Amino acid sequence: MPRPILATIHPQALRHNLDRLRRAVPDAKLWAVVKANAYGHGIERVFEGLRAADGFALLDLQEAERVRALGWRGPILLLEGVFEARDLELCSRLQLWHVVHCEEQIDMLAAHKTQQPHRVFLKMNSGMNRLGFPSAHFRTAYARLQALPQVDEISLMTHFSDSDAARGIAHQLSAFAEASRDLPGERSLANSAAVLRHGRDPAVRADWVRPGIAVYGSAPDFPEHDTAHWQLQPTMTLASRIIGVQQLQPADTVGYGSSFVADAPLRIGVVACGYADGYPRHCTTGTPVLVDGVRTRLVGRVSMDMVTVDLSPVPAAGIGSEAVLWGRSSCGAVLPVDEVARAGGTVAYELLCALAPRVPVVVE
Ligand code: PLP
Repeated sequence: MPRPILATIHPQALRHNLDRLRRAVPDAKLWAVVKANAYGHGIERVFEGLRAADGFALLDLQEAERVRALGWRGPILLLEGVFEARDLELCSRLQLWHVVHCEEQIDMLAAHKTQQPHRVFLKMNSGMNRLGFPSAHFRTAYARLQALPQVDEISLMTHFSDSDAARGIAHQLSAFAEASRDLPGERSLANSAAVLRHGRDPAVRADWVRPGIAVYGSAPDFPEHDTAHWQLQPTMTLASRIIGVQQLQPADTVGYGSSFVADAPLRIGVVACGYADGYPRHCTTGTPVLVDGVRTRLVGRVSMDMVTVDLSPVPAAGIGSEAVLWGRSSCGAVLPVDEVARAGGTVAYELLCALAPRVPVVVE
C-alpha cells in the first residue's frame, strides 16, 4: 500500500479559469503560460484543459517539444528567447515564436542561416528591470530586426512589475506606449493580475494577454482579492489521509521544537504530507487544512513526511480521514492554495511549482 498522498489535477477547473480570463479580455488572444512544467501541474496533464488557448508560452525548448508532441500546431512562445545560437535551429524546426530581449539575441539571429523566417516578440524593459531593451534602445532594436531577412514578423511586449498592487501599471504602460508609438506589430503586456484588474483598458489587453497563475486558480492579487472574488477554481488538489491520532493533555507539546503547547485537552491527527512532498515548511500552527471537508488548523511544525492537525472541529475524524492540504475536498469544500501560501510566508506560485516528484499525480 503506497503512502496515501495524492495530487489531483482538475481539467474542468482549467477550462473554467481560461474561460473566466477570456471574458475579462474578450477581444484579445490568449497565451496560456505553461512554463515551469505548467506551474508544477505537468504540461501533459493540463494540455486538454487548456486546448482552447490561442497559444502556449513557456521557457525552454524541451517544454516546447513536449507541447508539439501533444499535437499542438498553433503558436508557442519562448518567453526568454534563445540562450545560444544553435537553439535557433530548433526554434525553426518547432516553428516557435521567440522573445528577443537583448542585442546578443539579435546578433544570433543575424548570423543564423535559415530557410524559415522567424516570428519574434521584441521585449521592452518598461520598469521591471529584468529582461528587455530600455526605452532609449527599443526603436533601434526594432529597426535592426526589421532589416534582417531572418525575421518576418515583429510583435512587441513588456512585463508589469506591480499589476497586482496599488502601485499599478500606469508608469509602465505609458513608457511602453511612448517607446512603441507607431511601430507596426501586435502587442502583449498583461499577466494574470493585469488581465483581471486592468483588462477593460484596451491598451492593457492589447492583442495578446499572457496569464499564468490565474489559469491555475490562484488569485494574483491575494489577499486584496481572493479566488471567490475573481471566480477562479482550484486546478490542483494536494490531499492525504490521517495516519495517526494522539490525545493531548494540557502542557503536552507537538512535534520538533515543541513549538505547539496544548492549553487544554486536544485531539490531533497526523497527516501523511510533509515538506519533502512540497508542503511549505514555514507553515505552522494556524495554517488552514480541511479534514473530511471541515476547516481546521495545523498545529506545530511541519516535518519531512508529516504534519499534525487539530481534530476538535471534526470529532468524527480518525485514521483514514481525508486531509486536503490545498484544493478541493471530495465533498466539494475548497481550500485556496493562496491561503496556505500566505500562512507560509510565500505565494501560490511557489507551492504549485514545488510539488515534489515523489507525490503521485492523477488527472481527474
Ligand atoms: N509573462 C511573462 C513574461 C512572465 O514571466 C510571466 C510569469 O512570471 C507571465 C507572463 C505570467 O504571469 P502570471 O503567472 O503572474 O500571470
